[in-house]
Amino acid sequence: MNCAKNCECCLMPFSKDPLGEKRENEKYCSYCFSDGELHADKAKDMKEFQDICYKGMLEHGTPKWKARLFTWTIRFAPYWKKRNSKK
Ligand SMILES: [Zn+2]
Repeated sequence: MNCAKNCECCLMPFSKDPLGEKRENEKYCSYCFSDGELHADKAKDMKEFQDICYKGMLEHGTPKWKARLFTWTIRFAPYWKKRNSKK
């Protein structure tokens, strides 16, 4: 009964995931979760994770305005809502 269509960590739509249905974790995209690890857990805070995402998107040829927009929306991801409310 999982009807989420976006990664819970970066909000990327799974339809854009290069691994699609074959990704390792159904809640997270293949960029956020690989080799059994959720990479955001290693980032010291949301800002650091956003920086990584932003640079990653530019490397994949995403226009800057779009990368900035996606980076901004990360704050609404369930993962960060949970993690930021713990403090
Ligand atoms: Zn993700």
